Parts: sequence; C-alpha cells; structure tokens
Amino acid sequence: MYINGEWLKTGQTFSVSNPATGEHIGDVVDGGQAQALAAIDAASEAISSWSSATAYARAEILLNAYSLMMDRKQNLAELMTREQGKPLKAALNEVQYAADFLRWFAEEGKRVYGETIPSARADQRFMVRYQGIGVVAAITPWNYPISMLTRKIAPALAAGCTIVLKPAEATPLCAIAMFEILIEAGLPKGVANLVTASDPRPIGEEFCTNPAVKKLTFTGSTAVGKHLAQAAAPQLKRVSMELGGHAPFIVFDDADPVHAAKGASLLKFLNTGQACISPNRIFVQRDLFDTFIQTFSARVKKMKVGNGAEPGVSIGPLVNAAAVDKVAAQVDDALRKGAILHAGGERLEQGALAKGHFYAPTLLSGVTPEMRIYRQETFGPVAAVIAFDDYDEVIEKANDTNYGLAAYVYTQNLSRAMHAFEDLNFGIIGINDINPTSAAAPFGGMNESGLGREGAREGLAEYLETKLGGFSI
Ligand code: ADP
Repeated sequence: MYINGEWLKTGQTFSVSNPATGEHIGDVVDGGQAQALAAIDAASEAISSWSSATAYARAEILLNAYSLMMDRKQNLAELMTREQGKPLKAALNEVQYAADFLRWFAEEGKRVYGETIPSARADQRFMVRYQGIGVVAAITPWNYPISMLTRKIAPALAAGCTIVLKPAEATPLCAIAMFEILIEAGLPKGVANLVTASDPRPIGEEFCTNPAVKKLTFTGSTAVGKHLAQAAAPQLKRVSMELGGHAPFIVFDDADPVHAAKGASLLKFLNTGQACISPNRIFVQRDLFDTFIQTFSARVKKMKVGNGAEPGVSIGPLVNAAAVDKVAAQVDDALRKGAILHAGGERLEQGALAKGHFYAPTLLSGVTPEMRIYRQETFGPVAAVIAFDDYDEVIEKANDTNYGLAAYVYTQNLSRAMHAFEDLNFGIIGINDINPTSAAAPFGGMNESGLGREGAREGLAEYLETKLGGFSI
C-alpha cells in the first residue's frame, strides 16, 4: 500500500497466485476502511498544490512515467503474465497501451482551453474555465491490470486531481509496479495513493461516502457498478462507470467470410475472452455460414492453451475457478438447449494444466435466445454463432440487450456500414476492425454498460468541472 508518500509494508497480508499454475507469487498488505480514509486524507491534503501546479509540470511527471514504462516493458509484461495469465505478447501490447495513456494525457492536459461567450448585455462578459474536480477514488479490475489503472490515473493527474486507487484483489502486484514507476517519475506525496485489499467492500464504502471524494471512477461488472453508483448518489458524487458488455459481431454476406472468421477468432479469444468488448454473439448471414464456421473452427482447434509465459500459447487461464464454472455452466446450458458444438466444450485439467484455471476454446453454433449465453456476458473463451437472414433482423437482435459497449460489423458495402454504424446502440463500433481502441479515442458504453468515456478529450472532461464567470464591467 502506498499512502501519503510512504509504502506500508507491515500488517495483515493476502496472497497472490499465478492463475496458470496455482503457484504463490506474492503477499500484499491487506487494507481496510482505515487505510482508505488515510489515503483520502492524503489526497485531500495534496490537492491544493497539485491542482495549482501548471499542466506543463504535471505533464513532465506523466512523461517520465511513460519513459520508465518503456524501459521496463519486458519486466512489467512478465509480471502481468505471471499474475493475470495472459500470453506474454498480449501483456507486452497491454503495457504499451497503458503507457500510451500517460503520454496522451500529458499532452492533452495542456489543452484544457476555456471559452469566452458573447453576452446579450453590453456590460457583461462571460468566461468559462475548466478545473480539476478534486479528489478522485478509483476501483479497477484484474483483466487489464495495468492499462485500466493508467486510463484513470493519467487523465485524473493531468486534470489536476489527486487520486486514491484500489486495484482488484487478483492483481495487486501490477498496481504496485505501476506505483513504483509513478514515484520514480517524481510524483509528489499524496497525489496518488494505493490501497490494496482482499475485501473491496469497506474500501468501496469509504470511497462512496467520504465527502472529500468528489468523483468515483470504476471499471468492473455491471452489478458492482450499479451498487457503487447507488452508494455514491446521496452525495451526488460524479461517477464514471465502465461496465460489462455483450458485443454483437455481425458478418454481412458481402464480406469475405475467411477474413471475418479470422478477425472474430482473434478478437473472441483475446485475453481468453475476459474483456468487456469481447464478442458474445456472432451473427453470420446465412450464405456465408458454412465457410465462416469451417474457418473459425479450424483456427480454434489450432489454438494452444497453457501458461502465457510459454512461447506459442495463445489462450491463457481464466482468472479463477469460479470463472471456469461460469463458462462451463453457460456451455452446458447451451448444449442442453440444442446448440451445436464445433470445438472445445470442456474444462482442461490434464498434465501441466491441472493446477490452473483452464477451459478449452469453444465454438458453438445454433445459439438461440432461450440459452443463457445469448444474454449473459460470458467473460470466457466461448464463441457463440447465430445465423441471420437480413439487415433489419440482425440489427434488432444485436440491439436486443441491456448492454451497449462494443459492436463489430464486417461488410464491404459502404452504405450498409454507415447504416449499421448509425443503427447499432453501442458506444464503440468496429467496422471491419477488431481493435477500435486507443488512448486518443473515447471508450465507453451506452445503457447498462456504463456512464462516461475514458481516453480522448472525453476522458479528460470526466475529471473536470465547468466554472462560469459572469463579469459586469
Ligand atoms: P469482476 O466480476 O470482473 O471481477 P468486479 O466488479 O467484481 O468484476 O470487480 C471489479 C473491481 O471491483 C475489483 O477491484 C473489485 O475488488 C471491486 N469490487 C467488487 N465488489 C466491490 C464492492 N462491493 N465495493 C467496492 N469494490 C468492489
């Protein structure tokens, strides 16, 4: 834990393990409500000097942190693979993505322009300025254990806010490594504080009820996000919520089915399906269906499952045993209700995989609305394919979800692409593109996928308040 410029290394601890091997990889100090309070106090004390520093001075520190991340890219990625399980190549990509937020917001923080507005009164002048919101509390998930931190820390610090962060209990080591970098980069004490805990509830409670916290930013499940938003509501705290998703992936009949199947298989199994923008329903127009399934299943059968530290492994473990149970239950339910299994469909518990949390990459077709997988987020390596006949039908089905984060469309027809872009009720639409994310682009969802956006100008605005001055002269 890092509070008010000091590492807290004593007290109760909780243990962290490698999800691929079950091996114990570290012990971390276990914090509670008292530590959350101390961290909020430290962030409150630091707010006046940090918010009055220039954006240039703040940027300097963020850029130092960017350089340190680049220097330690390999080490950070290896730690991430050990703690979270993703293949090393994916971990390297994540470290780069994470670092990009530091650089991008260091630059953007210098461009928090205000406005002057003409008035109807001759003696009046209006001036608008944007200023940091104050102390921010952040709660982050385990699936992207470094980039989800920088996506919050970078804009908050660039905006002149101070921050208290609670990382997921499964991945505190990545958070500690990230804080070591921020400290080395020159961050003054109290500006960013880290509270690690095995039980998130008392920390979340303090974040939501302490009047010094002006903003809560959360990435995680929709259920927990709703709970926190409710807890923060009595004080009308600002909230940003990046929650679950149930992304449709639509392949129209003018697309190349082989190219689309490659895209779908790369995207679906990224991070073993543990991503909120992972496609959960893959809709394929009937003419292409057989070719699509053939290509997809051939690719799935070739995927190597195992410890992400081993070369050639593209599917790592799931985060824990409960995640494997959830995936298995969804697949069993679908098969019981008539889905067709083309690949996978089983837990992997043999040999070297015995101690980890593995489930085979799985391809199902014939998925129908009665099946749980049709509505529930899977967060695992299961691709569910559904045939469709026409545009209106597929858009209606795609939009038939409470979620609204990401959607994907494959088509070569410009008009169809534009219609789909406009008609789909999702915050992020990839058109023939499986990676529509970047530090420079707004990430976030509609409906129950969340509130607010991260990355881009919108991501900075989440940490700013608008102040209007009316001057009578
Ligand atoms: P997932 O299902 O992906 O693990 P969660 O929403 O449970 O997602 O976890 C995301 C983050 O939310 C983690 O940091 C976790 O510790 C935290 N969290 C979970 N429950 C609560 C809670 N009741 N109060 C505050 N934080 C919570």
